[in-house]
Amino acid sequence: MNGPTSFPTGHLRPDSPPTDAFDYMIVGAGFAGAVLAERLATQLNQRVLMVERRHHIGGNAFDRHDEHGILVHPYGPHIFHTNSVDVFKYLSQFTNWRPYEHRVKASVEGQLLPIPINLDTINRLYGLHLSSLEMDSFLAHKAEPRPDVLTAEDAVVSKVGRDLYDKFFRGYTRKQWGRDPSQLDASVTARVPSRTNRDDRYFTDVHQAMPQHGYTRMFERMLDSPNIKVMLNTDYREVQHLIPWRHMIYTGPIDEFFEHRFGALPYRSIRFEHVTHHEERFQEVGTINYPNEHAYTRVTEFKHLTGQRHPWTSLVYEHPSAEGDPYYPIPCPDNAALYRQYRDQAEKLRDVTFVGRLACYQYYNMDQVVAQALKVFKTLSQQLLLTPPDRVPS
Ligand code: FAD
Ligand code: UDP
Repeated sequence: MNGPTSFPTGHLRPDSPPTDAFDYMIVGAGFAGAVLAERLATQLNQRVLMVERRHHIGGNAFDRHDEHGILVHPYGPHIFHTNSVDVFKYLSQFTNWRPYEHRVKASVEGQLLPIPINLDTINRLYGLHLSSLEMDSFLAHKAEPRPDVLTAEDAVVSKVGRDLYDKFFRGYTRKQWGRDPSQLDASVTARVPSRTNRDDRYFTDVHQAMPQHGYTRMFERMLDSPNIKVMLNTDYREVQHLIPWRHMIYTGPIDEFFEHRFGALPYRSIRFEHVTHHEERFQEVGTINYPNEHAYTRVTEFKHLTGQRHPWTSLVYEHPSAEGDPYYPIPCPDNAALYRQYRDQAEKLRDVTFVGRLACYQYYNMDQVVAQALKVFKTLSQQLLLTPPDRVPS
């Protein structure tokens, strides 16, 4: 029997017949697992068993048609954007794209204002007519200088001051993360930097597009290889000792892998409330954020993202929660320290590689997970070239 605890050397046991064995057991059929399965199977002719405990592939990027035939994202809105030419080129082998630039408005003091904060946000909020240059000095005047920008509060207040922080960030962040921005890393709110121009796109990446026929179709094409077997509705722990494999790629929560031996890593979950209306269009942009009202943080109308035309429209309301499936690692110094304890254990296992958002406890976007998986593939392929399985010493 194989398994991370029984064979820490990373090789198939000499008495296991290599022809019956999988080269890789990949735990999780999200971006991390799918990229590695595809690369290993098609570039190195490796036999891959992918084990996924949900009933579908795609991980949190899974999409499907709802009962009205509208393409929705059951795990919340997923908008693809990247500055990486390599990542975009890689994924383009499996999908065509529909160009899409996401726009978000925030409901503040009875107005729907562009977020990230831009020139129009400021002018409309305060009834001003500033130019970009004037906005620069307006913000410089409002900003509270901080010697060190450590927290999610520092990151905003040091750039735009307390009033805009209170109106756009404080309430949203407290709802989303269940803690004050002063208790979160600066990187959290630094994802949404203010601008002094009128650009109202949520992202500024070079590539911004949605898979033309959805994420699930893209994943199906990635996994379409005779070398890849996909086992759904299965926790890897049910089969890891039954099916021989040489190396495991694990993309689930890292603390769960180690049976929470150092304590549970905190994650933020979300209850996704899906609603359908018999009208073509519900709201003016893809997402509306509610920093100060309601228990939910934001409402997304999928047809903006997908470009689908349909007499009905489907929305998702996101209700953050401490309970439920782990969706977000919570970036703060304590959690990073706890994660490092797990990472140290992970680094000792030669036959398991940890990849992806939950396995590395990093607040990664999809493109960052793809980039990480492509990098891991390079490392694994170099190792394979150095020690091909048929030359593993017995
Ligand atoms: P996952 O997609 O989580 O895949 C891991 C898989 O492993 C899961 O399917 C899980 O079921 C499976 N698994 C775990 N444990 C086991 C086990 N024991 N046995 C078998 N299977 C197991 N990114 C963007 O770029 N743009 C966005 O707009 C965006 N929006 C997001 C919105 C929300 C609400 C959330 C939660 C995330 C969003 N993301 C977005 C991030 C994106 O979802 C992730 O970066 C990406 O999906 C992570 O891929 P992954 O393979 O690391 O993990
Ligand atoms: N944020 C906020 N107000 C907003 C938008 C974002 O306070 O209107 C903060 C909040 O802490 C959020 C973080 O910025 O969690 C990152 O926002 P993003 O939209 O990138 O979150 P994600 O799409 O990953 O949930």
